[in-house]
Order: sequence, then structure tokens, then C-alpha cells
Amino acid sequence: MAKRDYYDILGVEKSASKEEIKKAFRKTALKFHPDKNPDDAEAEVKFKEAAEAYEVLSDDNKKAQYDRFGHAGVSGGGFSGQNVNVEDIFEHFGDIFGGGRSGGGGFDPFESFFGGGGRRRQTQTGKRGSNLRIKVKMTLSEIAKGTTKKIKVKKYLPCDQCNGTGAKDGTAVDTCATCNGAGAVRRVTNTILGQMQTTTTCPTCNGSGKSITTKCGKCGGEGRSYGEETISIDIPAGVAEGMQLSLRGKGNAGENGGPAGDLIILVKEEKHGSLVREGENLIYTLYISFIDATLGTSVEVPTIDGKAKIKIPAGTQSGKIFRLKNKGLPSVNGYGTGDILVDVNIWTPKHLSKEEKKLLEELKGSENFKPAPSKSEKGFFDKMKDFLG
Ligand SMILES: [Zn+2]
Ligand SMILES: [Zn+2]
Repeated sequence: MAKRDYYDILGVEKSASKEEIKKAFRKTALKFHPDKNPDDAEAEVKFKEAAEAYEVLSDDNKKAQYDRFGHAGVSGGGFSGQNVNVEDIFEHFGDIFGGGRSGGGGFDPFESFFGGGGRRRQTQTGKRGSNLRIKVKMTLSEIAKGTTKKIKVKKYLPCDQCNGTGAKDGTAVDTCATCNGAGAVRRVTNTILGQMQTTTTCPTCNGSGKSITTKCGKCGGEGRSYGEETISIDIPAGVAEGMQLSLRGKGNAGENGGPAGDLIILVKEEKHGSLVREGENLIYTLYISFIDATLGTSVEVPTIDGKAKIKIPAGTQSGKIFRLKNKGLPSVNGYGTGDILVDVNIWTPKHLSKEEKKLLEELKGSENFKPAPSKSEKGFFDKMKDFLG
């Protein structure tokens, strides 16, 4: 199913300010919140959509990627997938609004808006893991088709000894004395929306409601240990240098069973030997002799994965551009494919033998060798406009 435009989902203009986007999200989230629309699957979908849209549009970096590349620029994450539940969304925006549940000062806007303070306590645990960033090199050929890369990532993984809990054998736990196991304490908080009474995470147990009596020997109570994971990353066709993809939950494992951070993939484009990328088009600079240009010839030019033959008609001028249709790169949004543009340059000899010089001298006065551009021979800028515009 085609994804809806994020601006449309929140009902804001592309030029909307951060504040307007935040307001629009709050309004949309309130309208479709699952607590207000029990057993309404459509509302839940819309709620998730809004959360996803807000997650992207509220983040300068992601917003820029989205504005430039559309949905493909921010793929790999997202809340509208089948396997995402509403609790995950609360979890996530708890972080965005208040710096997480970890510090004890976490502010969850949904708890205040909807009074649903109890709904997530059972699943809430430790501190969220940090995001990881890695660079992935892509050849033109890989960019043309899209690719799956298997990459070894060094990162924190949940401790297998204690199941990420940090407690010896995963069972050496007791009820937290500060919150009596509730995982939350009440307090008055100054928030972006004014002062309100909120239920915030218990600072002692980070919301788990439990305290560890004996720490796990392997991870020292952190619930995670440093290791390596091989991650398979699907990179869509048409990506470009500097583009970022984020994979939710593939970053560092959280502490004490907290949610994992994201893995952010930064695309690095490897230079091709002879083709230069210009958006979806590829430009090849061809040099031919003045003689070939005059008499006509046929030449081989490189394509992404091979070669193509093109005919150079007699009387070809320097600056002529030949187009190999659809031999360029696919659009990252799936709209069409670029071309290879062959930019013809006439090579002027720099050194001549006596014999060569003599032959040319003989032609010098010949009428046909005098430049006489016709109206149909366009200048450089007109030509570029035709091909790139
Ligand atoms: Zn452990
Ligand atoms: Zn507690």
C-alpha cells in the first residue's frame, strides 16, 4: 500500500514551523488515540501514522531526508508496521518529550493527555540504549538495483546470562522500595504544555518496579554486554551520498532490559571510474578526434554494468550530448529512471609531426573548415536545460 504523505497526515503545510507540527501532531494523536477509540482498528492505524509522521517531521535531520527523498529517505523504521504496538509509541515519545524514563524526570505526554498512566507500567523497564551510526559504501551498480548488505556491528547486546535484566539468573529481584513496585511516582512537572501533574518514572528502579538483590555476574547488573551482531540491511535502489536510513531497535541494547536504540545507516557513494552522477542521470565525458567527428564513427561508452555502442554521425559538433535512455539510476521514490548523457568533446591535438602539420596547412584555407554555426546548433546552456530539465 502506498504510504501517505507525512505533511498530509498531520494536515500541515511543508513550510510549517516545529511548533505548528507539534501542535498538529497533538491534535491528531488526541483524535485517534486508542483509549478514545476502543476497538477501532482504523483509528489505531491513523494514530500510528501520525506518530510516524511526527517522528520524522520533528527531527531536523529526518525531515530534511524526507523532504529530499520521500519515504525511502527515512525507511527502515516507522510506526505503521504491523508489529508495532501502541505501547511502543508511548515508549518512544516519552523519550522525545522528556529525555527518557531513565533519569527519573521523564515526561510522557500521553500519560498527561489521556490519563492512561497505568497502561505501560508492565512493559516499562530500564534505560534506552543509544543510537549507533555506521557508514555503508555503495557502488553505482548496487545503487542501481538496491541491495542487501550484511554488516557486522559492534554494539551492546542484551546479556544472555540474565536475559537483559541485570539480576543473577534473571530471578534475583525484589520489589522496589521507593515506588512499591508501581514503577512510577507522582509529581508536578513543568512541561512544554504548561504545568501539570504527571506520573513519572520511579528514579530508583527506572520504572521496572523491581530492585536487583544480586547482580548478574556476566554483565555486572547492566543487563547488556559488548559484542557483535551481523545485521542484514536492505538498501533501496536510487539512494545517494549522505542519505540516512534508520533501523529501529538495531542500535545499542538498553540497560536492564530497556529498549534498544536505533541503527542509523549513512550512505557513502563509491566513485565510478568514468560515470559521474548528476541526480538520476549519469554523465560520461567522451573525447573523439576531429577526424571522427567530421567523418562519423561508432564508439563504445561505459554503462553501469557494461558497455553500449553509440553512433557518432558525420559532422558532430563538440558539446553535442547523446542520451542513452533509462541507462541511469532509478529514482529513490520509484518514479522512473535516469539516462546516461554522453557529452561529446572534440580532442584537439597538442603535438603534430611535420607531415601532419603539412596536411592540415593544406586544408586551412578550405571553405568547409570555417566555423559556420547554424541557428539549430544550440549553446551549452540551452543544451543542458534540454537534458537536465
Ligand atoms: Zn547479565
Ligand atoms: Zn521504583
